This record gives sequence, structure tokens and C-alpha cells, in this order.
Amino acid sequence: MGERIEDVTVVGGGDSGLLAALALQRTNPGLDVSVVDDFDRPIPQVGKSTFLAIQQILHDSLGIDEQRFVEAVQPVWKASVYFRDWCGCDPFHYPFDQRRKFPNPEERDTGEAYYFYYAELADSDDHLSKCEQLVAQGKSPWSFEPREGGARKYENVAYHLDTERFNGFLRELCLERDISLVDDEVVTVDTAGDRIRRLRGRDRAYEADLYVDASGFSRVLRGEQDAAFREFDLPLDAALNARSEIDLSEVVPATVIDTGEAGWFWQIDTSDSRDRGYVYASEYVSESEARAEFVDHCEGIDAEDVVNYEFSSGYHDRAWIENCVAVGNAEGFVEPLQSTGLTANAKASVTLATLLSGHGRVATDAVRERYNAWVERTWESIYDFVSVHYAFADGETAFWESARGLDLSPRVELLLEDFDRNGFDAHVDPTMGHSDVDEPLFFQPLDFYALIHNMGATSEFYEAHDFEIDDETRRAVERNYGSIRDDVADHYDHREFYHGALGQH
Ligand SMILES: Cc1cc2nc3c(=O)[nH]c(=O)nc-3n(C[C@H](O)[C@H](O)[C@H](O)COP(=O)(O)OP(=O)(O)OC[C@H]3O[C@@H](n4cnc5c(N)ncnc54)[C@H](O)[C@@H]3O)c2cc1C
Repeated sequence: MGERIEDVTVVGGGDSGLLAALALQRTNPGLDVSVVDDFDRPIPQVGKSTFLAIQQILHDSLGIDEQRFVEAVQPVWKASVYFRDWCGCDPFHYPFDQRRKFPNPEERDTGEAYYFYYAELADSDDHLSKCEQLVAQGKSPWSFEPREGGARKYENVAYHLDTERFNGFLRELCLERDISLVDDEVVTVDTAGDRIRRLRGRDRAYEADLYVDASGFSRVLRGEQDAAFREFDLPLDAALNARSEIDLSEVVPATVIDTGEAGWFWQIDTSDSRDRGYVYASEYVSESEARAEFVDHCEGIDAEDVVNYEFSSGYHDRAWIENCVAVGNAEGFVEPLQSTGLTANAKASVTLATLLSGHGRVATDAVRERYNAWVERTWESIYDFVSVHYAFADGETAFWESARGLDLSPRVELLLEDFDRNGFDAHVDPTMGHSDVDEPLFFQPLDFYALIHNMGATSEFYEAHDFEIDDETRRAVERNYGSIRDDVADHYDHREFYHGALGQH
């Protein structure tokens, strides 16, 4: 028998907690939702770069008006992850329209076209997808479309968010939507086995039918439950972070990655600041050595402003246990590469909310199991993709040598073997062995192929066979990439967008 849920208490008003509250309330009208947080604590400055699905989650699933969001949060539109230096590889992108660079599998004779991609187009600076062009030309996805009488957007992009503006905006929305924000700190959790009976705050006690632990790595509720933790085989466990001011005209619309001695650096531009980070493995470098390397690498940051964050890579194999669901960093985290955390957490909350709504807010074991399977699959799929970045990285320090040997899942091993033997294949199982998947995974086989090929992986299939690329195909490809370049040249950059075009949106 299940329990009908009338009220929910979310512990933690970071981005994950507020997004969970908004998702639960939106699809479950009548549900009483409150968020308890020590709201005066400073908001963590990490978590700024998002992944493709974020726009659909915020503006469709959560019903957040896009124009209002843009005016309040002033995001930068991110078109790719740009690997400016990944252990000495030629610079390459992971653009959000990567799959569009591959031939259309429904066309005739695609073998030649795949070979063309493999041999010439994949790493050519003259053949950039629209997202790659946006980065190369420093543009936003917005352009003026006279026939539509206003600004038009290329949708295959995500956001760089200023965490204070974003979190402040989410709080405002919660209040508008009758979600209570309670300023308190949970100090004691009363349990009976794995069931949460009551929370005791500094000011008062809280009881609810469902508790959501969104307390970040403090894991205030989850820590009281018997939850197995699946630790990922990634040595990275800390990150240094600092910001400096920039002008809108300097914005790079990509998350930019460079290699470090014991990890990697990020650069994430928002509309008024450049956020820099160094994700490192404390097993290979002390914090003070990492700080020295970080300050040396980044221009314009002050050593005194550098903040250190620690994290663990892995997740609780059951996100929902009894009457408590963990979301956000409280549930799990892979690592910052590919910036999947916030988007995956938001998507998890939307999934939780729709599952509950679809079952009349009655929580049964079957609902819990379905949700837990979704969360597990999401983390595993993200780990699969992140792990490949290290497996093919050519760094020479002790950290990079050991990172090359990390565990790859059998799903990834199979895909790599298949690429070597058979080349690209649009018909490879897009679920990568997750047979119960009913929606696209974050990363699909074509993303893996593109990534490893950019990092230098070859395929015996193309090395052993010769394909002729006819002149007509070449001309068509040139025309296509030329028109993408010209189209992007007409786009607004971020300064033009915010100083003029926003009104036409
Ligand atoms: C180094 C690093 C870099 C990252 N970079 C990215 C990135 O680029 N992109 C991305 O998508 N994700 C990134 N993430 C993940 C990011 O942190 C999360 O995705 C998300 O933005 C915030 O997570 P959260 O809300 O779960 O936790 P938090 O932001 O930590 O929020 C937890 C909240 O719980 C509250 N709280 C804690 N204890 C209590 C208590 N006892 N009582 C009441 N309230 C309490 C805190 O006050 C806080 O407000 C990164 C993480 C790390 C560690």
C-alpha cells in the first residue's frame, strides 16, 4: 500500500532544493511545499555552467517565462564546451549540435559521408557547426529576423548563470507560487529506521509526508539513512574557484577547458564576470601547490579571493528511500567536466514531480523504484561520458597517467570496440544497453564517437578502407558550412543583445 502525499518539506534552498520545490508544486496542485534553509549563508559560487536540456526544463517543464528570466538573470548563452588544451590535443569543441555534424543516416551512400567526416571534417576549422561558429565568432544565439518582426534564437544552447541572480530569481518564483521559504537550520533529524519522523530546526520542528534532502554535500537527512554509496573511479575531489570582472563585449559563449598538472581548469563567463576554476585531485597535489598553479594559470585573479571546494564523486544508489528523496549534491555528483550537475538535478526533480502526479501523489514501492532506476541510469550515463575524456587523454604527469587507467563501464568498452571495428554507426543502440530507457540519455553514441575521435582515436574500419568523396558532395558540404558561417556573422553578440535587441525578443 502506498501513502498519499499532502505536504513536502525540502531541506536546502540551493538551486536543487528550489528547483525541486518548483517542480513538485507545478505538477501537483494542492501539494503544500516548503523549503527550509539557513538563507543568510552565502550561496556557493560553483554550478554556473549548464547543459542543453536546461532551457526546456526551465521554460517548458517549470513554466518560467523566458523573457522575464533573461531580464532578471541575464544569462550568457553557452554553445559548447571548448577544449582549448586537453593534454596537447588540437583544440576541439563538444558543441550542443554535435549530432548535426554527422551525415543524415536516411540519405543514400552515407558511408562516404561518414568517411568524409572522419578523415577531414571532424577537426577542420573551416567546417564548424552553428554552435562552434557562435563560439568562434563570439556571438549569441540571437539574430534579427525581419519577417518575424523581432529577435529569433537558435535553440541548441544552454546557459551560463550567475548563481546569485539565478538563486534569487528562483526564490522570488517560489514565493509567487505559494511555496514557503523558511529561514531556519535543521539541527537534528529524528528517525525510525530509515523513516524520517521529524526534523528539528534552531527555531521549530517540521513534519511532512515527504522530505526532500537538498542540503548539498552536508547530506543532512541522507546521512541518517542507510544508503549505499556508489563511488566513481575518478580521482578529482576538490576545486579552486575565483572571479574577475569582465565587460559584455569580452564574453566567450562556451565553457573553456585547459589542462593542469593534476586536473583541469575551467573558464565560465557570465554577463559581468569571468569565473575560473581548477578541478584537481588532492591525492596528486596539495591545496597550496594547486593554488600556486591556479593563480599562475589565470590572468587577473587575486590569490586572496580563491575559494577551495571539496566534493565526492558518486551517488547513493537509492535516491528515494522511505519518505525521503535526496536531490542535487545530497544525492550525488560526478564532477564538473561537461557541466551536467544542475541540469541533471533539475531533470530529476521534474521526473519526480511527474511520477508523483501520475500516481495521484500516492508513493508506492513501484514509484520509488522507477524513480531510483531513472536517477541511477542518469548518473551512470554521465560517468560513462566523463570517463572517456580521461581514458583518451595524453597527459604525462602522475595524475594523467593514472587517470588513463580508470574504469570504463562494459557499455563504453563495447562502444569503443565497435567504433574501431565498424566505424560510425547511427544505428548503434542509442540507449547504450539501458533497455528500460524511455527518453534520450544525456549522451548518445555519436557524442562518444565525436569526442574520442577529437582526442585522436582512430578506427581500423576507416584506416583499412578507402572511400572516394566526389566533387559534388564536397561542393554541397562547402556550401552548407559557408552558409552557417554567414548566418552566424549576422547574429548579435552578448553586448548587442543586452544593450538593444532584448526589447525585440
Ligand atoms: C567544484 C564544483 C563545480 C561545479 N560546477 C558545476 C557546473 O559548472 N555546472 C553544474 O551544473 N553543476 C556544477 N556543480 C554542481 C552544483 O554544485 C550543483 O549542480 C547545484 O548547482 C547546487 O547544488 P545543491 O543545491 O544540491 O547544493 P548547494 O548549492 O550546496 O545547496 C545546499 C543548500 O542546503 C542548505 N543547507 C545545508 N545544510 C542545511 C541545514 N542543516 N539546514 C538547512 N539548510 C541547510 C545550504 O544553506 C544550501 O543553501 C559543481 C559542483 C562543484 C563541487
